[in-house]
Amino acid sequence: MMNVLEQQLAHLVDECRPYTAQGKVADYIPELAHVKDDLLGVAICLPDGSYIHAGDVHHKFTIQSVSKALALCYVLMEFGEDYVFSKVGMEPTGDAFNSIAKLEETVPSKPLNPMINAGALAVTSMILGDTAELKIYQFRQFLATLLGVPVEEVRYNEKVARSEYETTDLNRALLYFMRHHGIVEGDVDEIIDVYTKQCAIEIDCFDLARIGRILSGNGEDPVTGDELIPRRVVRIVKAIMTTCGMYDASGEFAVRVGLPGKSGVSGAILATGKHELGLSDVGFGIFGPALDSKGNSIAGMKLLELLVERYTSR
Ligand code: GLN
Repeated sequence: MMNVLEQQLAHLVDECRPYTAQGKVADYIPELAHVKDDLLGVAICLPDGSYIHAGDVHHKFTIQSVSKALALCYVLMEFGEDYVFSKVGMEPTGDAFNSIAKLEETVPSKPLNPMINAGALAVTSMILGDTAELKIYQFRQFLATLLGVPVEEVRYNEKVARSEYETTDLNRALLYFMRHHGIVEGDVDEIIDVYTKQCAIEIDCFDLARIGRILSGNGEDPVTGDELIPRRVVRIVKAIMTTCGMYDASGEFAVRVGLPGKSGVSGAILATGKHELGLSDVGFGIFGPALDSKGNSIAGMKLLELLVERYTSR
């Protein structure tokens, strides 16, 4: 049974790989541009925590904006929803992930949601620790707990972090704007330091799929049954992933795939099953670095669409 599914998954990857030719690897962070553009891999974490996979799953890549969903989990667990949502909203923007437009239109300049850069930067500014190194350690520690590995195994790619740190004027602009309006406090360069390292953490499709499985299981470790994220936090994060996780393609993703998902400019997609679907209890981890014009993995989106179409009752 399992082998049949894995074979079908391999066929799906073959079918979707040509779509990579229609996309483009992100190069606005110079260090991201070096990756081969026809890669495509998928891992699915099953209810019992085991995996099936196909394609280029053994590549490591940086987590980029998928970290936004996890940082949101972390601050909700640490500070509670009232505080977090006093600093960042929960409404989709319909704008590009790095847009500044709504910040100026919204009073009091509160970023509309935590899945766009402005909101994610506000979330990152909340992470506890006296120094940038301690803050990023906290976040790595949280990720290590989710992945069930020692914190030393959760590393960021120094080159990618530095490459973004040196070029990310737009994110600095968002932070200066929000600091002026009292939405964030602290040193802008320090927040950028933590954020760029958070985005540069290296993971693979299996890691993403496991996290997706934790979210589909209401926060429980699929192997031990331990509660890793409280149920209420999972509900909030999945809701926000559904409405905002693919930026200004969130509506399209909802129509085509219909699962809570979160993408990153490295080509990563985290997606998680939900109850009304046949694939209710699984997690998906996808890597396909060729992106569409909105910054989402072009072949990864297609793969998820076909998976849902063919293997669920949706
Ligand atoms: N680090 C990236 C940035 O801020 C993350 C963006 C993304 O993955 N969409 O530009």
